Amino acid sequence: MLIKLTDEQNAWLEKARSLGKDVLAPRAAEVDRTGRYPREGMHALRDAGLWGMRASKEYGGGGADLLSTVLVVEELAKSCPSTAMCFKMHIEASEMIARVHTPAQVEKFVKPLARGEALYTVAGGETSGKKGDDWHPAGAFSAAEILPDAYRLGGVRKSYVTSAGEATHYFLMVQAGADAPKGALTPMIVERDKVEWKKDGEWNGVGMRGNGSSPVYFTGDVPKENRLGNEHEGGKALGVVMMPVVALTYAAAYLGIGSGAYEIASAEATKQYPSGARRLDNPVNKRRMGQMSAQIEAARSLLHLAAKAGDEGRVKAPIPYIQAKVMASETSVAVTSELMTMFGGTAFAARLPFERYFRDARAGMVMGLANDEAYPMIANMLFPPQRG
Ligand SMILES: Cc1cc2nc3c(=O)[nH]c(=O)nc-3n(C[C@H](O)[C@H](O)[C@H](O)COP(=O)(O)OP(=O)(O)OC[C@H]3O[C@@H](n4cnc5c(N)ncnc54)[C@H](O)[C@@H]3O)c2cc1C
Repeated sequence: MLIKLTDEQNAWLEKARSLGKDVLAPRAAEVDRTGRYPREGMHALRDAGLWGMRASKEYGGGGADLLSTVLVVEELAKSCPSTAMCFKMHIEASEMIARVHTPAQVEKFVKPLARGEALYTVAGGETSGKKGDDWHPAGAFSAAEILPDAYRLGGVRKSYVTSAGEATHYFLMVQAGADAPKGALTPMIVERDKVEWKKDGEWNGVGMRGNGSSPVYFTGDVPKENRLGNEHEGGKALGVVMMPVVALTYAAAYLGIGSGAYEIASAEATKQYPSGARRLDNPVNKRRMGQMSAQIEAARSLLHLAAKAGDEGRVKAPIPYIQAKVMASETSVAVTSELMTMFGGTAFAARLPFERYFRDARAGMVMGLANDEAYPMIANMLFPPQRG
């Protein structure tokens, strides 16, 4: 790590490191094999004060900055990517209420968040159907009926909701009213116990198997006091308030998959076999390990610098955040694929956990702001489309 950390940032890092090693890592293989939700791990994070780490100290939270947040997420992902992703979705989903709130929302949402009493997740996209047969482009959202004091959800189906049913609070985005301006979104917090919800099947992903990312139907009235920001202005809020944390914690989670696999590879490659040989002594493998270390450090340095610049208020457009996301996810895909080759049959036969990291890494290419969507977004910010 090239960046110099403050004592507080180091303390967050050390806390995450020991939780990862003592609680998450021992359960990661079993969570992946069975696809069960990593409840013990998530509860351990809560008990250590991580659920409330982004809430401000004024309300009893940890007051963690962006850099501390990404250090924590990377460290957790090294040990169990599934748990790190559930945690990342909690941080992302609670970011807006942690930053922008009415006085009533401080009591209702922010203080409980700070105390670790609420688990959040994102119920955002409605992009794909059961078999992709009713696919519609990202950005198409269901409409909620506007009542005098509430928004009525009429069985809105959200296609991938991490921590589905486990989370107590859902950051949910809809169109407010059938005639809402095109693309105008209204985010709100849906409290699990105040609406009807139903999972549409169990999550059985190729990777991130402990995420519980099932589709969920939501039906019921959500009080207007649960709305985040102004009606129809969710898109703007997402860009300004949430994007740093959304993109950077994605980056951190994906980076942790690559760096976690690399740490295991470092230990395995330097083990001496009965013949006296080590995997690292093969010149091709030595080159691989050198190259992967450079790839990881490059992605990590961009991530840390983007987070630090964000903390210092020096980022005017979210370009570095999105760049960090694509670099981290592609690094992790590259590193884990390389390790599958380097560890040969042992890796392929799943005697070492590289194939799990390899499968988990694949999510980074498509999840939230798919890379194919992220690159044009970066280019559009660098080269705004010409008008007329
Ligand atoms: C493990 C996991 C957990 C998830 N958790 C959550 C969650 O908690 N909450 C939530 O709301 N969502 C969640 N998602 C959903 C995630 O945000 C979507 O997978 C993502 O938005 C992509 O949508 P899609 O899967 O429908 O892919 P599609 O829209 O079918 O996209 C497939 C491919 O098409 C191309 N493509 C699509 N759109 C564009 C575009 N606009 N520009 C360029 N290329 C494009 C890209 O190559 C992309 O990879 C999760 C997904 C996964 C895999």
